[in-house]
Amino acid sequence: MNSPRAIAKIIQSQVTSDGAGVKLRRSIGTQACSELDPFLLLDAFGTDNPDDYIAGFPSHPHRGFETVTYMIAGQMRHKDNTGAEGVLGPGGVQWMTAGRGIVHSEMPEQEDGELHGFQLWVNLPAADKMCVPRYQNIEPADVPEIMTDQGARLRIIAGTAAGTDGPVTHISVDPLYVDVALTPGATHVQAVEAGHTCFAYVFEGSAAIGDKTVDVHTLAVLTDGDRVELSSDGGGRLIVVAGRPIEEPVARYGPFVMNTRDEIHQAIRDYQTGNF
Ligand code: MN
Repeated sequence: MNSPRAIAKIIQSQVTSDGAGVKLRRSIGTQACSELDPFLLLDAFGTDNPDDYIAGFPSHPHRGFETVTYMIAGQMRHKDNTGAEGVLGPGGVQWMTAGRGIVHSEMPEQEDGELHGFQLWVNLPAADKMCVPRYQNIEPADVPEIMTDQGARLRIIAGTAAGTDGPVTHISVDPLYVDVALTPGATHVQAVEAGHTCFAYVFEGSAAIGDKTVDVHTLAVLTDGDRVELSSDGGGRLIVVAGRPIEEPVARYGPFVMNTRDEIHQAIRDYQTGNF
C-alpha cells in the first residue's frame, strides 16, 4: 500500500471517570470504538483542577496486555506488588508489559497544578499474555525530540520518525508512537508500516490528515497506507500511534484481557488468591 492513509472514521472522545474518580476523555474503549486491534483503550487526562485527579488510581491489577503512560504535564507515582516504584514526570513514558499479572497504583504526585497525559492499552498475542511482567521506564530527556524544517516538533516514543528511533523496543506489535506538535502552517509526513492499524488523536488545536481537519479531543482512525500526511493551519498537537493487528479472539473483563472466558475466570481466581 504505497499511498497516504486517509481518515476512515472520526471518534469523539467521551468524558468519563475511572480509578477513584479521575476525570478523563476516552476514545478507544467506548461504545463507538470498543477496540482497534491491537489497541484496547485510549484515555486522555488533562485538567488543572485537582478535584479531577487527586483520587488517582489506587491498587488494581492488570493481566494479558500492556499499559503505556505518556505524561505531558504533571507527575504520577507508580508503585507495584514487586516493590517497583517511581515517579513519571512531564515528557516521560512508562511502557508496562503486565503479562501474567501486575497489581499497581498510579497516583498523582502533586496536590495542585496541571496533570495531563495519556494511557494507552496495547494487547498482547496469546503467546505473550502470560510473560513475566516488565517495564520500560523512559525519562523525559531520553525521548528524542526533533525540530523539522517543516515546522514540526517530534517526540519519538516508539518506532521511527524523521530517521530517528524511539527508545521503547521489543514490543510484540512493533508499535509506532510519536507526539507531533505543529506550528501554524507546519507539515509532517509520518511513515507508517503498511498493514498496521493506525490512529491519530488531536489534543491541542487542530490538525489535518490529508485534506480533512481533525478537531481537538478527537480520534481519527486511519485507512491502510504507508504514510500519514499531516498539516495544521492554526497549529496543533497530536499523537500518531500504529501497531500490528493481533487478529485473535479477545475476552475482556475490566483490567484482564485474554483470549477466552476460561482464561478470564482463571485471571480473577489468581488475583483473588494472591497469585499475581
Ligand atoms: Mn493501571
